[in-house]
This record gives sequence, structure tokens and C-alpha cells, in this order.
Amino acid sequence: MTESAAKVNLLGLSPKQLESFFDEMGEKRFRATQVLKWIHQLGASSFDEMTNISKALRAKLAEVAEIREPEIVMEKFSKDGTRKWVIRMDGGSAIEMVLIPDGDRKTLCVSSQVGCSLDCSFCSTGKQGFNRDLSTAEIIGQLRVAIRSFGPFDPSGERRVTNVVFMGMGEPLMNFDNVVAATELMMDDNAYGLSKRRVTLSTSGVVPALDRLREVSDVSLAVSLHAPNDELRNELVPINRRYPIDELIAACNRYLQGLNDKRVVTVEYTLIAGVNDQPEHARQLVKVLRKLPCKLNLIPFNPFPNSGYSRPSEEAIQAFKQIMLSSHILTTVRRTRGDDVDAACGQLVGQVMDRTRRSQKYIAVVQEEPVQGKSQSI
Ligand code: SAH
Ligand code: SF4
Repeated sequence: MTESAAKVNLLGLSPKQLESFFDEMGEKRFRATQVLKWIHQLGASSFDEMTNISKALRAKLAEVAEIREPEIVMEKFSKDGTRKWVIRMDGGSAIEMVLIPDGDRKTLCVSSQVGCSLDCSFCSTGKQGFNRDLSTAEIIGQLRVAIRSFGPFDPSGERRVTNVVFMGMGEPLMNFDNVVAATELMMDDNAYGLSKRRVTLSTSGVVPALDRLREVSDVSLAVSLHAPNDELRNELVPINRRYPIDELIAACNRYLQGLNDKRVVTVEYTLIAGVNDQPEHARQLVKVLRKLPCKLNLIPFNPFPNSGYSRPSEEAIQAFKQIMLSSHILTTVRRTRGDDVDAACGQLVGQVMDRTRRSQKYIAVVQEEPVQGKSQSI
């Protein structure tokens, strides 16, 4: 017999997968609940800690399984409470993760892929090209790291992370199975127990995957629109050429119909100076959003080197917002947080060791010309 293959990382098994794992070992299914609680509520990293499990079973588990979390490469805590990490994944790639406090809320922004293949024109992650999908363990590992940054796990204490949004690097619907399994753990009462209103998946609009999601999940939904017409959206969000705005809005409505509550879709709209921030764009956007129960989140563009875009003035942002509000569209403006740790949305570039040629070229350009071309007005 050859030496055993890689051990199963239990951190990444959904509640159902963990039950099957114990089934296959010839063990009772309730073990899954016990182990789930140890790993996700009590933060266990070894089987030795699992005192309500027999020594014999713990030894058996240690032979075939492990609880392995990604390694923290860098940790920065900002004065405004924002926390940012760079985390090393298996194989050496790194991703960034941000925790943003807001009143009683602490929202963790997680990544689902290293890089992204969808190439939105204003997104620094898109500019890096695609490296690989994150495993479920690597996604859940981000949540564990954030929770532990407040001290040892304490299930009876205050929630340290109250909300999770998939708004870091990557397109979550392009890593469907791993992301769905991660959301199941986030929402399971024996694991993190977050309500479905507090776990939000953000997508740029992969319509067939959105329809699949409806069949298997009731996670909350955010959609990155960024343009009120197909011509402009084709340019900013290239996947629009495959799934245009009307199809995306129809898929969002189907998703909402599948939820048996009154949730709405969060529509994200990154405001870029001179590109999509004019009153005419706002008026067109009102017409589009009339077709979908939603709230609108305006995100002032976060500049990054060589993006070729810039952030609109505060007046332009407010004028856009006013047009939406006067048309009775619930609208908020996302404020940049954690600037002192470089953690603002859209800056999740990280020290990603992307292996695609295109990205190496891009990173090289960034290193050579860190300032030039940053705020070119259009
Ligand atoms: N791929 C998913 C989730 C990750 S991006 C998606 O596109 O929805 C999370 C949000 O940040 C998206 O709405 C995205 O469009 C926005 N974003 C990306 N780059 C940005 C930038 N430079 N400035 C402001 N928002 C940005
Ligand atoms: Fe990918 Fe989202 Fe960035 Fe578009 S905005 S490139 S989908 S991460």
C-alpha cells in the first residue's frame, strides 16, 4: 500500500459533507454535529481538543483528516476599526481580506478566487487575470482568521463578525460549489449561525449560475450593475455581452421569487467620473431599477495605478444620489474606510503571485510607475 494521500481538511466540509464523511468511516452521523461545533464555534485546530469524542476516534480522525487554516502573511488594524489581512493559500498565492466595522455591525469582505477572469475595466482584481478558485476551507478560513483576531473563540460572547459579503477578490458564482458550501457553513446553526440576511453574495451577473443558486441557496444577493444601458455595461462589465441587463434583471427577479421573504437585491454601482456618473445615467438607471425590488449602493470609484479612471467629485456623487432618491429608489453611498491600511474596496490587489502572463505584465507596470496615470480625468 502506498503512503496515504493528502488528508481531508475538515474545515472545508459543509454540514452534509461532514455527515457523509463520518458515514463512510462507519461512524454515527451525530459526530458531524459535534465536530462541526468544535471546529467552527470553538475554533478547534486539532482533534485532541475534542473532549467529548473518544480517544480512539480522535486518533482515527488524526490519521485521515486535518483542520488546516490559511496562513496570515500580514495583518493591519486601522484606527477606524478596519482590519485587513493578506493570507497565503495553498500553493503560495495570496489574497486580501477586510473587516469593516459600522456601528453594531462588523462586516467581513471575503474573497472567492485568486484573481478573476471577468475583466471588468475598473477593477484591480480583474486586471490581474485569473489564477485559481479558492477551496471551501480557504473561504471559511478567512472567517476563522477574522473571528480569532478578537481573541480565543467564545460562542457565548458577542458576535465578532456579524455580516459576511463576498465582495473581495473573484467572482463567487464562477466558483459555485465551493462558495455555496462555504455559505452553508456560515449560515448553519452548528457552525457560524449567521442569518441569511447577513450573508451576501455579490455577482457581476453570471445568469445561468444565478439560476442554479436559486435551486440550492437562499443567501442574500448583491448585483454589480455599474451602467444603466447595455452599450456602456458591455464596456465596463464584459460579461454583459453574454448576459445583458434585461436578462440579468429577470434572473434577479426569479431569485427573489424563490425566497419566501421580503428581501430585495442590493444593486452596486461604482461611480466613475465622466463615464457613468452623469444625470442622464441616473435617469436611465431609475428606469432599469423600476423593474427590480432593490436598494442601490453607490460606490465612489477607488483609484488604483494605471486604471485610467477617476473618482467623481462629491457634488457629482450627491447629485446622482439625489436623482435616485427623488425617484424613490432607496440609495446609499459607500464610504471609503480604512484608508490608512489601504483597505478600501477595489484595492484588493494584494501581493498576489498571479502566474498569468498578463498579470505579471500588469504588476510590473504598477511597480515601475506607482503614481503616473492615477487620476486621469475622462
Ligand atoms: N466579482 C463580484 C464580487 C467582487 S467585486 C462582483 O463583481 O460583484 C465587489 C464590488 O466592488 C463589485 O461591485 C465591484 O464592481 C466593485 N469594485 C471593483 N473594483 C472597484 C473599484 N476600483 N472601485 C470601486 N468599486 C470597485
Ligand atoms: Fe471580477 Fe468582480 Fe472585479 Fe469584475 S468586479 S473583474 S467580476 S472581481
